[in-house]
Amino acid sequence: MNRSRRHEIEKLADSLREKCSVIDYGFQNIFESAEKAGFVVIRYPVGLESFLGFAMIKDGDRIVFSNSSQILSREIFSIAHEIGHHCLHLASTGKILIKDDNFQNSDEQETEANYFAGCLLVPQDKLEKYIRLELNDIDPNSFNGLHIAKIQNAFNSSFDTVLIRMKDLRLIDSRKYEELKAEKAATTVTRFLNVINGNLDLNRISESKKIPPVFLEWVISNYQQKLIPKSSLERALRYVDLTADDFGNESIEDEVDEEFDELFRRME
Ligand SMILES: [Zn+2]
Repeated sequence: MNRSRRHEIEKLADSLREKCSVIDYGFQNIFESAEKAGFVVIRYPVGLESFLGFAMIKDGDRIVFSNSSQILSREIFSIAHEIGHHCLHLASTGKILIKDDNFQNSDEQETEANYFAGCLLVPQDKLEKYIRLELNDIDPNSFNGLHIAKIQNAFNSSFDTVLIRMKDLRLIDSRKYEELKAEKAATTVTRFLNVINGNLDLNRISESKKIPPVFLEWVISNYQQKLIPKSSLERALRYVDLTADDFGNESIEDEVDEEFDELFRRME
């Protein structure tokens, strides 16, 4: 990723923050903000070992999915990363789906989405302001884990997101980065957050289930117009503890609708 592309990504992330009227250091609730910005947010606990999220365009809807079996701060990163794919890779390339099994992939597209997430969650100017005003302008190269936990808490992000961002912005050198990573490995983030009286939810698994009404309406209307089989409807309704019988309609039974099945498979 060259310098001008980095700047382009930073500007896109900044304009999204503006659109979401983020006035604090971090997003209060990125899931709600994403919806206000026009994304359809789906959260579902598909299992700790499963994929992390996907970005998809479906009938003009911009869907972002996050696996809520991950701890909250990682799920927040997932949503930011998937929004990045929408802003950077979906509409502009004609792709309709990008799925993430992990965020370690070092190809260009993944690096860019990770960079977007970093800019969105922890913008450079806000981070520098926090260090100046809230951490007495201490040189980041003399930070310890508690300083990182404080930043993490203020920006509602993960410990790793903050560390990587500080390294990317060259606020810390790679020796310090490794040292803080090792400190995190030796002490749990929960303990850090406890000490600073931080938001412990960041380090917990929420297992939130959030399927937007608009998504369900769309599935139900497709079923009623006999565009999808009952099995697809049932799979969608399972996420909200309803059954297809609540929507009584004799529809096509056994034809497999590949598009729908693909979406639901990704949610399982
Ligand atoms: Zn990705």
